Amino acid sequence: MKQIDNYINGSYIPPVSGNYLENFEPATGKPYSQVADSGPNDVEQAYQAASVAFPSWSKTSLEERFLIMNRIAEGIERRMELLAVAESIDNGKPVSLARRMDIPRAAANFRFFATAAMQFASESHEMPGTAINYTLRQPIGVVGCISPWNLPLYLFTWKIAPAIATGNTVIAKPSEMTPMTAYLLGEICTEAGLPAGVLNIVQGLGPSAGQAIVSHPGIKAISFTGGTSTGAHIAATAAPVFKKLSLELGGKNAFIVFEDSDFDRVVSEAVRASFSNQGQICLCGSRIIVQESIFEKFTAAFVEKVQQLRIGDPQDENTQIGALVSEAHFHKVSSYIALAQSEGGKILTGGNSVKLSGRCTDGWFLEPTVITGLSQNCRTNQEEIFGPVVTIQSFKDEAEALVLTNDTRYGLATSLWTRDLSRTHRMSAAIQSGIIWVNCWLLRDLRTPFGGVKDSGVGREGGWEAMRFFTEAKNVCIAY
Ligand code: NAD
Repeated sequence: MKQIDNYINGSYIPPVSGNYLENFEPATGKPYSQVADSGPNDVEQAYQAASVAFPSWSKTSLEERFLIMNRIAEGIERRMELLAVAESIDNGKPVSLARRMDIPRAAANFRFFATAAMQFASESHEMPGTAINYTLRQPIGVVGCISPWNLPLYLFTWKIAPAIATGNTVIAKPSEMTPMTAYLLGEICTEAGLPAGVLNIVQGLGPSAGQAIVSHPGIKAISFTGGTSTGAHIAATAAPVFKKLSLELGGKNAFIVFEDSDFDRVVSEAVRASFSNQGQICLCGSRIIVQESIFEKFTAAFVEKVQQLRIGDPQDENTQIGALVSEAHFHKVSSYIALAQSEGGKILTGGNSVKLSGRCTDGWFLEPTVITGLSQNCRTNQEEIFGPVVTIQSFKDEAEALVLTNDTRYGLATSLWTRDLSRTHRMSAAIQSGIIWVNCWLLRDLRTPFGGVKDSGVGREGGWEAMRFFTEAKNVCIAY
């Protein structure tokens, strides 16, 4: 069985405790690797390596950082197939999705922030006749990056790339459920010439390895993506010691369909937004709200398309719906289907677990599920399910659409479908979410701010926002 060790100071090393966790393949329900069960001692080793590497890396020229990060991007691209298969085995996602989305975007993250390192500039402000101020943006030091299991390499590199581009050294922890692509990244970084200690990858559980990163006194900033309750715990640990925090948390995103939208396009995009990666993308539209006048027509067309989705072995090129990430998550999502029924919801399609034949008989597969007939204030419409389960509700007019959209504790992303330009502007200003996609979903320009409002998080990733997060601004005021 493959052993997944920590990557510290440029080498793979076993955890100090010698203990490993079982890592399961969701499609088969069987363990396929062992992951280092790290704790405070491993984080301390990583911290020592990162501290030693910092003085030199923070003074490495921008061009040298750019060249190394570009070589990391190339290394990811050269191993596209290996990484896509690894991510699919780890996560249960269709290999075609990993190859099309996750792995290319991981390479794009390094390429984008390599370029950003070369272009990043700070400001100067003149006080006429009196003084000139300039802003020095300096790396913070050793920073922590903690990421979830749903888009493993993509979200891991989305944090690491801006952190090293700005001259920090990093201790990064992937999810214990999807350690494989992060593990492979170590070797890619070594090959690309990233100096030892600049990136250290500590594997293991949240409460032990993750908590040790968050509470380490020398780690001055934490960039975290994961669940809202974990985010609250991290904030409670880090705030009293004044760590800089970026928290990208959960969502309960509305997908709003007005009667004037392009019908065929909105139906297919609603299917993609609901069920990509088995609904396990924080940005998935899990609440579809449709204007009354086209509710019946939309629902019938949507359900028909959902029923055509092919559920199967994630390694099969034709599979569109793979397995849920873990047995516990499978049971959690299934429990929400039961809850929806007890709350009066009607299942229009799906609702059952799927028993596949062959190597996937014991995998954690669930039918894409569409539920209607629920009120906005029920738990099914308020809580993040994070699986292949969507609800459909109707609305009369713009005002009601807005109320339904904003009526949750979350505020991550909204997808709005209409051809009315004035309505687009009005609603975009009034919708409480960090991202609003109009007539599209999951279209990403890496320069734009990324993140949520309300309980979906604080801070922004992407573009200059990330470069600013990973630097400390110092004002120098020079009198004439
Ligand atoms: P999670 O919060 O359980 O875990 C996320 C990471 O935090 C993992 O690496 C985990 O080991 C670690 N962790 C857990 N407890 C910790 C602790 N006490 N201290 C430090 N680290 C700890 O989340 P998950 O189940 O892996 O991911 C799913 C969640 O992530 C969903 O809520 C989803 O919406 C959210 N998510 C948000 C975004 C976004 O950009 N807003 C993107 C992807 C996923």
